[in-house]
Amino acid sequence: MPIPDIIIAIDGYSSTGKSSFAKLIAKELGFLYLDSGALYRGVTLYAVENSMIDDRNEVDVKALAGGLPGLDLHFENGPGGSLTYMGARCIEKEIRSLAISRKVSPIATLPSVREYVDAKLRELGRRKRVVIDGRDIGSTVFPDAELKIFMTAAPEVRAMRRMKEMQAKGEDVKFEDVLDNVRERDYIDSHREASPLAKADDAIVLDNSGMTLDDQMVWIRQVIAEKFGTE
Ligand code: C5P
Repeated sequence: MPIPDIIIAIDGYSSTGKSSFAKLIAKELGFLYLDSGALYRGVTLYAVENSMIDDRNEVDVKALAGGLPGLDLHFENGPGGSLTYMGARCIEKEIRSLAISRKVSPIATLPSVREYVDAKLRELGRRKRVVIDGRDIGSTVFPDAELKIFMTAAPEVRAMRRMKEMQAKGEDVKFEDVLDNVRERDYIDSHREASPLAKADDAIVLDNSGMTLDDQMVWIRQVIAEKFGTE
């Protein structure tokens, strides 16, 4: 039996490899991949470029909320998969920098920002056969998602992965700074008032500290086979 029209929600801590896993699932199963973190990062870039957030991460909430309706963030297919755009401008590289990573969690605590991102995701997810990664996809954005995975791994393992990713892109970063950022984002994401990072009751936990992407793919195929009776 083929895999039915489902929504796969992948939530979990920063740098657990959610997006790499979600992208691979999308490729292997022929699903559409939606990167919710990229939308939060895009809003953050917009706030930074328009001086709506200062050095102490104080946000001009009113100005930002006023700008959101006109902010055209979307995904387009590129050579290596989905790319994030702000209007006609590809912002994929800028949104992955440490400068944006440092400001994204305070921006993502704002209810107006969360509403903006949730609305975009729900609109895109209506077609089903999507895999979406984030922090609150299974708990808040798509509580009816048919398959929910919650990913975790040791902070040091996650910081090392993130550092290698950034170094590969030519960014000069220290392990301690990346580890601090991972820990700080864990804290802010789990303690914010508006839909904090939380495992949905019906999510399946995946600790991938010692797993490769291929191991994870084998694991999820097995989960899908058991849950939906597919081959
Ligand atoms: O997944 P990524 O690390 O790109 O997400 C960037 C930030 O966006 C996270 O640290 C978190 O603060 C926020 N985020 C969120 N809810 C989501 C996805 C991301 O709050 N669904």
